[in-house]
Amino acid sequence: MLTNTQLHNFAALALRVGANIQPDQEVVIRCDVQCADFAHIIAEKAYDFGAKYVHIQWRDERLARINMLGASKQTLTEVPDYLTAQTDYFIDHRVCLISISAGDPNIMKGCDPDKMQASSLASMRANARFRAATMSNLLRWTIVSIPTREWAMQVFPGVEPEVAIDRMWDAIGHIMRLDTEDPTRAWREHIDTLHRRADFLNRHNFEYIRLHNARGTDLRVGLATDHIWLAAEEMGQDGLPFTANMPTEEIFTAPHCRKIDGKVVNALPLVNNGNIIDDFEITFANGRVTDYSAKVGYDALKNILTTDDGVLSLGEIALIGKHSPIAESGILFYNTLFDENASCHLAFGASYPTTVRGGNDMTDEQLNAHGMNRSLQHVDFMVGTDDIDIDGVTYDGKTVALFRDGEWVV
Ligand code: ZN
Ligand code: ZN
Repeated sequence: MLTNTQLHNFAALALRVGANIQPDQEVVIRCDVQCADFAHIIAEKAYDFGAKYVHIQWRDERLARINMLGASKQTLTEVPDYLTAQTDYFIDHRVCLISISAGDPNIMKGCDPDKMQASSLASMRANARFRAATMSNLLRWTIVSIPTREWAMQVFPGVEPEVAIDRMWDAIGHIMRLDTEDPTRAWREHIDTLHRRADFLNRHNFEYIRLHNARGTDLRVGLATDHIWLAAEEMGQDGLPFTANMPTEEIFTAPHCRKIDGKVVNALPLVNNGNIIDDFEITFANGRVTDYSAKVGYDALKNILTTDDGVLSLGEIALIGKHSPIAESGILFYNTLFDENASCHLAFGASYPTTVRGGNDMTDEQLNAHGMNRSLQHVDFMVGTDDIDIDGVTYDGKTVALFRDGEWVV
């Protein structure tokens, strides 16, 4: 369990290093009702930092399950106007957003996959404007995480719920560097290290990245024209930095959506909409998925891959060494925020316009010409194993070793 001071430091990190709250700014906290206590700490802290007003957008995963079981497919595809009116308000008022990602990874187990897909498609469509506002850094935002009961029990099976929750707080406290003397300074140093590596990758302007391991991954990922590797702290459109994911260990950029070839095998389970997908492999040719299989959660994978056309290509490649604190914890969190930061990953679907030079000012056609991918989806899946080798290949054919046996060599 964290001490009271550590909890307050955590809230301060989310507000300052994360969303970078500014005086007189409105704040939105988005979280499950189970996270109310921590949300209230963030809200109080926000006023210490000069917030104008704190909104909370409650989620309720248990009600979401009840609705999924009880409501008709038709009803589940009708997103009420007041919800979009609310997010429009948030965009227009340039709020900063703090999401607490926490919940039972199995909450939707046994629900009708067809209904789930229809419902998530409808909500993605309704949220398109808000999603664009976060993906293009129009809003400054961050995601943090705290334990919830069912989730902790999944991560630490076989112990009492209270013990599981305690262990998870300890793990998150360490991963978030809250056990250091000055967590904010520890984060600043961490961010600097990531930026130094991103600069190295940017200087080389690789044409493509090659991934290879014993599990069967042998993939060539072309990179978008004028791509930029980003890490940790990004720049909001208002010129203020923010850190979108806390924790973050990744350095990422956009693949070229027509230049991906080969096969990739997942390294960790993928949790999506309350479903677990595992032991899957995907084959690409000319940037598109041509074949896929999964031993666990095939229907859920199929649901993702039939969202739209763009989901059949990739929108992100991210590199993370195996000695990151999350990877070293050896804990499988069943939550993308942690698991994607424990392992190199790729994402099906949309790329971030910020990962190409001038991307925020480009038309859809221009983005496409650079190889940027468009989709309603952005689903990360983990591919980095302990033995993965990764090379960068430059436009003049020079190969630079980036990873050997799962760790950075540059
Ligand atoms: Zn990522
Ligand atoms: Zn991603």
